[in-house]
Amino acid sequence: MDDPPCHAAFPPAPSGSGIDKESGGVMDYDVVVVGGGPAGLAFARGLARASQRGRPLKVAIVERQPREALAQPAFDGREIALTHRSIDTLKALSAWEHIPQNEVAPLREARVLNGASPFALAFDPRGGVHDRLGTLVPNHLIRRALFEVTARQEGLDLLTGASITALVADDSGAHVVLADGRRLAAPLLVGADSRFSFVREQLGIPAQINRTGRSMLCCRVHHEANHDSIATEWFDHGETKAILPLNGRMASAVLTLASEEIDRLCAMDPATLGAELTRRFDGRLGQMRVAQAPHAYPLATTWSRHFASTSAALIGDAAVGMHPVTAHGFNLGLRSAASLAALVVRAHGLGRPLASPLLLRRYEAGQRLAARPLYDGTNLLVNLFTAETPPARLARSASLRLAARLPGLRGGVSRLLLQR
Ligand SMILES: Cc1cc2nc3c(=O)[nH]c(=O)nc-3n(C[C@H](O)[C@H](O)[C@H](O)COP(=O)(O)OP(=O)(O)OC[C@H]3O[C@@H](n4cnc5c(N)ncnc54)[C@H](O)[C@@H]3O)c2cc1C
Repeated sequence: MDDPPCHAAFPPAPSGSGIDKESGGVMDYDVVVVGGGPAGLAFARGLARASQRGRPLKVAIVERQPREALAQPAFDGREIALTHRSIDTLKALSAWEHIPQNEVAPLREARVLNGASPFALAFDPRGGVHDRLGTLVPNHLIRRALFEVTARQEGLDLLTGASITALVADDSGAHVVLADGRRLAAPLLVGADSRFSFVREQLGIPAQINRTGRSMLCCRVHHEANHDSIATEWFDHGETKAILPLNGRMASAVLTLASEEIDRLCAMDPATLGAELTRRFDGRLGQMRVAQAPHAYPLATTWSRHFASTSAALIGDAAVGMHPVTAHGFNLGLRSAASLAALVVRAHGLGRPLASPLLLRRYEAGQRLAARPLYDGTNLLVNLFTAETPPARLARSASLRLAARLPGLRGGVSRLLLQR
């Protein structure tokens, strides 16, 4: 097979890590994964299929949180808009059946508004095979389901409450040292340790990091009017607002503002915050009452220059940290986990190396192709819709109306959201 046209050579392996690879007491694995978030767990779960093709793979997941935090993750305010493709992947991993279906909410349509203008750009699945654009599922339930199916996997060691202090990856494989002195070795190291990835840094892979200075507040609210399962997003004088429809008369109210302003809102008591959200959302859904305490996330986007290096790969947010406004981070991360796992399982079945340069380049090329348009498109959207100069506002209004007149564009975006 030809090498995909990605990049000619991987970045040089880091040197001077001070790891003595020859000393004893090393725990040997086929794959070491750093990070037991959704991407790391989904990847490890994807490797379970290896047992159908021979011996199970020996996998270690190194996660700094305690085991209980993975087994029973707390509600974190994130409602993940899953694409149909992601649901299919979660089904294939047997995780979907572990998500309580009364917590799953249909997303029938999405509308984008510009300030107080009544004009709306709508995206829906009309003409397609689906009855909905996507599905909203709370993040902590996805994480819990992935933990449930992964925790007892044959050949898998979940090293929780553990962090790495040093690593080296070269032609002979990867070696990792944990804070408690344990040492792990494997032909393949996978960094799934979020957008500020320690693994990425230690591998010497540079990343574009954009700290926006803004934060996103997510707050579950009860409200008076029906939302009709329509997600609404609108852009207004320095703030971005979204309503994500949950079951019944409940929604996630999402506000993006300067970080200091979000901190001020988070400090409010529930009644004051409810009144503030009702006002900021123009009473569109009537009175809002806080259903659960809000969560705030400082926003930063990241793009790794490489998604793989010698004997190592990055998945999930460690590879691409998307702006959440287009709801694609998890979907992309799941895709990266599934595609790398499929390549590794295949190589294992054929008795080939698990981290050959060809395999890693193939993973990287496919994933970059999928991620780049979404990453650039999302950043363009954010820039267009958050700039507050008069020409930018004019451009915003004009581009929404132009997009509405171009059925091909709206259909294309809908298909992107529906991704299979
Ligand atoms: C407000 C908000 C809303 C979002 N909405 C959507 C949406 O609608 N749709 C969508 O597709 N995406 C959405 N996302 C994005 C999605 O949540 C992320 O893309 C996804 O959680 C990334 O998963 P991950 O496993 O790569 O990283 P993480 O979830 O960050 O997990 C990383 C794990 O690695 C562990 N870790 C980190 N460093 C170390 C270390 N050194 N050693 C050991 N362990 C380590 C951490 O403890 C953590 O468990 C949203 C994000 C936000 C903030």
